[in-house]
Amino acid sequence: MSMENKTNIVVLGGGFAGIAAIKELLRHKSEINANITLIDRNDYHLFTPSLYEVATSEEPMGNIAIPFFEIFGKSINYVKGNVTKIDQTDHKLSVNEQTVNYDYLIICLGSEPAYYHIPGLQEHSYALKSLEDAVIIKGRIKDACCKENECNKKAQIIVGGGGFAGTELAAELLSYKDRLSKQNHLDPNCLELTIIQGSDRLLKELDDHVSKLATKRVSGPQVHLAFGGHIKEVNDKEVLTDDGKSYLYDVMLWTGGVQANSWAKTNAFEVNKRGQVNVNNFLQTKDPHIFAAGDIAGYIDTQTQKPVPNVAQVAEDQGRTAAGNVYNLLTKKTLVNYHFRHWGYVVPLKGRFAAAELGGNLHFDGFLGWILQEFVFLYYLLGIVGFGKAFKRWDKVLMDYDKNSRTDIRQATTLKPATILINNSLEKN
Ligand SMILES: Cc1cc2nc3c(=O)[nH]c(=O)nc-3n(C[C@H](O)[C@H](O)[C@H](O)COP(=O)(O)OP(=O)(O)OC[C@H]3O[C@@H](n4cnc5c(N)ncnc54)[C@H](O)[C@@H]3O)c2cc1C
Repeated sequence: MSMENKTNIVVLGGGFAGIAAIKELLRHKSEINANITLIDRNDYHLFTPSLYEVATSEEPMGNIAIPFFEIFGKSINYVKGNVTKIDQTDHKLSVNEQTVNYDYLIICLGSEPAYYHIPGLQEHSYALKSLEDAVIIKGRIKDACCKENECNKKAQIIVGGGGFAGTELAAELLSYKDRLSKQNHLDPNCLELTIIQGSDRLLKELDDHVSKLATKRVSGPQVHLAFGGHIKEVNDKEVLTDDGKSYLYDVMLWTGGVQANSWAKTNAFEVNKRGQVNVNNFLQTKDPHIFAAGDIAGYIDTQTQKPVPNVAQVAEDQGRTAAGNVYNLLTKKTLVNYHFRHWGYVVPLKGRFAAAELGGNLHFDGFLGWILQEFVFLYYLLGIVGFGKAFKRWDKVLMDYDKNSRTDIRQATTLKPATILINNSLEKN
C-alpha cells in the first residue's frame, strides 16, 4: 500500500490487453480506492491490425497510434519507459532509472518476432511489429524500387511466412507497388515478390477456400509463391531454404513467427515453451498478486487443451478478466474464470477486398469483407475513445485510404450515410 493508503495497481503494456484491463479497473474505481498506473515504452496505443497499411501507404497514418492520454485523460498515472526488472519480493519494477511500486500487477507486454535460431534471419530481415518498423519497411521498399529501376531492374522483395501476417503484407505490398510506381514514375512492375511458405498453401490455419481466395488475390506475373521449403539461412544477398533453393533479395521481410515478450523469461517467471507466463484459469501467475493477459499469457483452453490464439480479441477479453479479478480480490469476491471465445477473423486481401468470418460460420468475402473490416475498426475505436473521437479517427483513416488508393471512397454507396454523419459530427466538434 502507498502512503495515502491507496492500492497501487500497475498495468505493464498499453496494447489490447492493457487498455481493456485499465478500462475494466476504471469501471470499478469508486469501489477500490486505487492508483492505477500504466507503464509503456510508448505514449500511445497501437492498432496493430492496420500496421500493414502504414508499411505500404504513401503517408504515415498517425491515426492508428492513439495517445494514452486521449483514452484515459487524467484518470490514471503514466510512466513512459522500458520496464526491465521486477523484484517480486519487494513488489518493485525498474523502468529506465525509476522504481515503480505495485500491490497488484497485470502483465500485458505482448509478443516479439521469433527467429528460431535461423542463421542470419534476425540480422538481415525486417519484422513488422511497431510503428517504427512500418515506416522503415516502407522506406526500404521505396529505396529498393527506385534504385533497381535506375538499372532497369526489379526490386526483389521476399516475405518469409505465408500465414495471416505474411499474406496480408504481401497483398498490401502489391497495392503499394502500383502507387509507388505512379508517384515516382517507375516501371509499373518495379518489384517482384516472393512469398516463402513452409507448408503447401497460404493461410494454412484457415479453410481451404480462404487459402484459394488469398492465392488468387496475390497471384500475378510479379509474384512467386514458394511452397514447401523452410528458410534455413539468410545471408546479405540470398535466402536459402531446406529444399535446396535460394532466393536473391533486396528487402527481406519476416512474418514467420512470434513468441512472447522475452521480459517474462528474463525475469525468471515460469514460462511455457513459447515463452509465455504460465497462468491459471483466473489468469493469475504463481504469485497471486500478479496476473498476465494477451500474447504474453500462457493460457491453455480448458476445452481443447490447446493454447489460445495470439489475437487482439483474446487479449482484450483476457485483459478484462484479469482486471476484473484484481477487483474481485480487493473486494473479497469470488474470482472468475477466463473463457476463450472465437470471434472470427478478417484477412485484408488488397484494396477494398477482405476475407472475413464472424463467430465461426458467417463468411463475407470481397467488398463486404472489407466493409466489415472497416466497421471492426470503428467498433474498436468506439470502445476506447468514445463516439466523437472514434468517428473523427475513422473518417481520417478512410480519407487517407481514399487518397492513397486514388479512388473516391464516397462512391462506395454503403459507406455514404456513415460518411455524411461523420462530416456532421466533425463540424460540431
Ligand atoms: C502487423 C500485425 C498485424 C496484426 N493483425 C491482427 C489482426 O488483424 N487481428 C488480430 O486479432 N490480431 C492481429 N495481430 C495480433 C495482435 O496485434 C496481438 O494479438 C495483440 O496486439 C496482443 O495484444 P497484447 O496487449 O498482448 O500486446 P500488444 O498489443 O503487443 O501490446 C504490448 C504493449 O507492451 C508494450 N511493451 C512491450 N515491451 C515493453 C517493455 N519492456 N517496457 C514497456 N512497454 C513494453 C508495447 O509498447 C505495447 O504497447 C497483429 C499483429 C501484428 C504485429
